Amino acid sequence: MRFLQEYRDPTPCRALLARIAAAATRPWAIMEICGGQTHAILRHGLDQMLPPSLTLVHGPGCPVCVTPLETIDRALAIAARPGVIFTSFGDMLRVPGSRDDLMRVKSRGGDVRFVDSPLEALQLARRHPDREVVFLAVGFETTAPGNAMAVRQAAREGLTNFSELVSHVLVPPAMAAILGAPANRVQGFLAAGHVCAVMGWREYEPLAARFGVPIVPTGFEPVDLLQGILSCVEMLERGEAGVENRYARIVKRDGNPAARAVVDEVFEVCDRPWRGIGVIPGSGLRLRAAYAAYDAERRFDVGDIAPQEPRECISGEILQGVKKPDQCAAFGKACTPATPLGATMVSSEGACAAYWKYHRRNP
Ligand code: SF4
Repeated sequence: MRFLQEYRDPTPCRALLARIAAAATRPWAIMEICGGQTHAILRHGLDQMLPPSLTLVHGPGCPVCVTPLETIDRALAIAARPGVIFTSFGDMLRVPGSRDDLMRVKSRGGDVRFVDSPLEALQLARRHPDREVVFLAVGFETTAPGNAMAVRQAAREGLTNFSELVSHVLVPPAMAAILGAPANRVQGFLAAGHVCAVMGWREYEPLAARFGVPIVPTGFEPVDLLQGILSCVEMLERGEAGVENRYARIVKRDGNPAARAVVDEVFEVCDRPWRGIGVIPGSGLRLRAAYAAYDAERRFDVGDIAPQEPRECISGEILQGVKKPDQCAAFGKACTPATPLGATMVSSEGACAAYWKYHRRNP
């Protein structure tokens, strides 16, 4: 793959590590927003090569981890209904709800299928006009354009048996909530490159100014991440706030206008609960009234949902950067990838799963 080798080359990585070590004269805590960045940092061992004064804090940017328990419980209730084909990305099938997960619903006879895109779910709706096809539409700004397009396409075709259970979340309001929390220790951010590829970085500028922090969009390869960390450290050392783009080969200030337009046509901003964190104002997307016919939440009355989180799970604190996975008493004991108590252990982007996979835990 073009670019992969160049961005994993040890020579520039070593040079960047030396520059970071020289630049960091004080302790700093930098949050990488995205679970994909967390996994890349741990997979390449970057956290172990940085100066000890530099702390990387893991952020809430894992869509599977932050989808609220209430949405999972609602998904389970819809998926168990006869006549429904319930579709989702693969990771969501094992995320524990209050008492169940989608895999168990499937094992009991529910028609639960994993798909690679919402357009596959749309295809199922065309093929099975006598069934209700529901797609669990979760994720950040990255998946919103595809999910919006599926709804718009269903409307254009007049499909009446397709709907989405929408639980989209937005990154900037979560960053504001983290920075404004009394327990916050984050002093700078690595912003997720793929989110910025869609949305650009314009909306980070007022955030950086308001909280006086550096925000650096980066990619997911070692050179990308180290360049991002270096920029962040240099800005912190200079006492500067603002946005410095370190993913220029992909990210533009205004993002992708066509993708943003389809999202804006189909979705509107709403308050949204984040799993383990609570409601963050203005942090979600829901279907606009014009597309209400495609809203699974309206289409399926599942009665009252009373979600119950396992008490041991501290994923909310982990997702806000207050604690690290190996500080959870259940980590590697009651909670493993085979017996996950929380979504952060299930998800392929979850911080707990990353610590388990790459052996980042105290003995
Ligand atoms: S180790 Fe398991 S129980 Fe602990 S925070 Fe992570 S997911 Fe939750």
